[in-house]
Amino acid sequence: MISDIETSIAGVLAGNHRILAKTITLIESSLPGHQAASQTILERLLPHTGKAVRLGITGVPGVGKSCLIEALGLMLVEQGLKVAILAVDPSSTRSGGSILADKTRMGNLSSDSRAFIRPSPSGGTLGGVARKTRETMLVCEAAGFDLIVVETVGIGQSEITVASMVDFFLVLILAGAGDELQGIKKGFLELADALAINKADGDNLVRAGIAQRDYQTALHLLRPASPNWSPPVVMCSAKERTGIDAIWSIVLKHRDVMSASGEREANRRRQALAWMWSLVEEGLRDRFDRHPEIQKQLPRLAREVENGRLPPTAAAGQLLAFLDR
Ligand code: GDP
Repeated sequence: MISDIETSIAGVLAGNHRILAKTITLIESSLPGHQAASQTILERLLPHTGKAVRLGITGVPGVGKSCLIEALGLMLVEQGLKVAILAVDPSSTRSGGSILADKTRMGNLSSDSRAFIRPSPSGGTLGGVARKTRETMLVCEAAGFDLIVVETVGIGQSEITVASMVDFFLVLILAGAGDELQGIKKGFLELADALAINKADGDNLVRAGIAQRDYQTALHLLRPASPNWSPPVVMCSAKERTGIDAIWSIVLKHRDVMSASGEREANRRRQALAWMWSLVEEGLRDRFDRHPEIQKQLPRLAREVENGRLPPTAAAGQLLAFLDR
């Protein structure tokens, strides 16, 4: 952990990975003293953020996320870019162990000094994990990374959360594994800026081609989120390193198109505002949960509502009124 705010800021801006890692640990800490220091650091770093490409990647465990991120990361560091990989893994809040962005899974990339890999923060709610990842993303931008990848597993709410913090959301899919199994629902496809059918190699190539056509048809039936972008469906093999450069070209093309139309900035402004509101909601909920008088009255009021002796509106009104006292 880092104790001195000035050392932290200077180190991050100089792109020092060791200080960056310590600063992220400070941000992830829930101690009130650490949170105050992190807020100061974040405010000071904010003017240095915003330049990176923010790329979200999701897909069920086993689809090949870490292989693909490693292949993409290695390709880009060879081109001279700096790449940071972060994870939002809701399972880490339950089990205490993150399954994403584990350094051992990206052996070649993690030993490269031009890349920075950070596993998911653990503990707390998905909202808490996501908030820390957002803040970490900003710190990495200030540290000069060109690409920030935020990885998440394709289960539950986490992909919606990640989609709300990135510019481009890539969904990885397996051919022939069944939509149900992969959690692919209509709403989920709407989040995607591109789909990539991974493991398009060997015996799987034909099936991947069929899946590509099927998903392309499915996406055509959806109204695209932007009039300027129709999400493409591509095939790739993280193992054989094919199609990775095509994915990167798509990400860059999307950036250019969305920047030119003003949508990229508008989207980021919308995301920042939505983030503010989620922090407000979280803060209000926190105040509610910590309020001693509310906690004292809550069981009785809840019982009365359950028994039909008190209307829910009246109970909610009484509880909320305590916040003003
Ligand atoms: P993750 O859980 O989504 O991060 O998936 P991993 O990257 O750990 O990959 C899961 C398994 O699939 C590993 O055994 C990989 O070697 C394998 N795998 C990943 N990408 C490919 C690919 O493009 N083709 C083939 N054939 N296997 C792959």
